[in-house]
Amino acid sequence: MSVTDTKHYDVVIVGAGMVGASLACVLTKSSSASKLKLLLVEASPVFSNKSPQQPGFDTRSTVLSAGTMAYFAQMDLAKSLLPSAEPITHIHVSDQGRFGSVQLNASDEGVDALGYVVANASLGQILNQSLLEASGLELCAPVTVASIKPCAAGMQLELSGMKNSDTSDDVSAKTMITTSLVILAEGGRSTLCEQLGIYHQRTAYEQSALIANVAFSAPHGGRAYERFTPKGPLALLPLADHDSQHRAALIWTHASDGIEEIIAMNDKDLLAQLQKEFGQRVGTFTRIGKRSVYPLSLQVAQEQIRPGLVLLGNVAHSLHPVAGQGFNLALRDAMALSHNIAESMQMGVSPGSFPQLQKYLRAVQRDQLDTISFSDYMTRLFSSDNIFLAWARKSGMASIDLLPPLKHYLSRQAMGLGHARVPQL
Ligand SMILES: Cc1cc2nc3c(=O)[nH]c(=O)nc-3n(C[C@H](O)[C@H](O)[C@H](O)COP(=O)(O)OP(=O)(O)OC[C@H]3O[C@@H](n4cnc5c(N)ncnc54)[C@H](O)[C@@H]3O)c2cc1C
Repeated sequence: MSVTDTKHYDVVIVGAGMVGASLACVLTKSSSASKLKLLLVEASPVFSNKSPQQPGFDTRSTVLSAGTMAYFAQMDLAKSLLPSAEPITHIHVSDQGRFGSVQLNASDEGVDALGYVVANASLGQILNQSLLEASGLELCAPVTVASIKPCAAGMQLELSGMKNSDTSDDVSAKTMITTSLVILAEGGRSTLCEQLGIYHQRTAYEQSALIANVAFSAPHGGRAYERFTPKGPLALLPLADHDSQHRAALIWTHASDGIEEIIAMNDKDLLAQLQKEFGQRVGTFTRIGKRSVYPLSLQVAQEQIRPGLVLLGNVAHSLHPVAGQGFNLALRDAMALSHNIAESMQMGVSPGSFPQLQKYLRAVQRDQLDTISFSDYMTRLFSSDNIFLAWARKSGMASIDLLPPLKHYLSRQAMGLGHARVPQL
């Protein structure tokens, strides 16, 4: 296909990970946005043997805040998600070796659950199915957006790996398309941002997260545990029982230079180490599943919008998972963006119009700043041996439990509802 017969779209989403796929689902369900000529391009195949293939839908689990679940209800996806989602009715926060803990309760907030734990693979299954059934969406996968550049119509994209619809052969020539608005949802390692000269501010925490499912002897009772240890934060997220075993998803943060040692441990020694760090709150740890490791950093794009361009999800901001906020924040951005696009359509202006995109950014900026500083603050507060921070932690833990407004603030943050500023300790 030559550039002269280039196909034009209103909106192209690059990346069908958790964020791009969710945005595509929202747009196909919005009545104003449903008139869009919409394309979703994903580098991985979408389904194989009914399993989602995008790298983000791996063996991890994600805490979906109550606010996120409400958005999935708007997309008609909550009914499919709820059977495989484990409700979090309590969050127990403690600090190893120090007195005091904080317990947040759904009942204190008048809700059934503070959040829900969903296996990423289940979320992927539901999102992918919804994409395949959506009308008004063109899905290209496995296809990579190889290059991007501004053009008179908005942005020009070069697609590679497109199949020829007549012969099913790969097209070796470049396939060019143009779009009024491109939404980059291509994850934390964006090559397209580099091409556009958009850089990221990166704070390396020098930490990595070990992820695995674990089994133990006592029921978790809907409790999520967040435990801060001198080595780094450790979270246990409740999962449904399986084969009569009580289970949780473990997110165990370690200094990056010590992670190799942990990975090399056999299951028995690793479980013994976990037991030592976590204590007996869920009885005895009995099994650990497949382990994966994720290096952790805070990465924020220096620009999120340009005429005809929006950065969304990890490419815009990737956070430390300690507070379980990354996807929840990105979904709030995606919902705001879908409203913005629907408004552009109603007003008859291009969805890539810069004043419209500035309006989008103004709508999400406060929430982004607060959520990013909240999770960065939690990471620094609870990963430091600095004597003042340790003191703040110690007095904080003991006093938060006695201060209903502060507990309410933390609960709302966990539910994805509170975008107030971080309280000063
Ligand atoms: C250990 C861990 C635990 C976490 N837990 C939580 C939690 O409990 N709650 C929470 O809210 N968040 C959590 N997060 C954060 C959450 O996982 C991320 O916010 C989310 O995965 C970001 O998704 P994404 O779609 O932006 O990126 P990705 O999942 O990386 O998706 C990007 C997609 O783009 C595709 N792609 C890339 N380049 C191209 C291209 N050029 N052309 C076409 N396609 C392309 C890729 O194949 C991929 O499918 C956690 C993160 C980690 C690391």
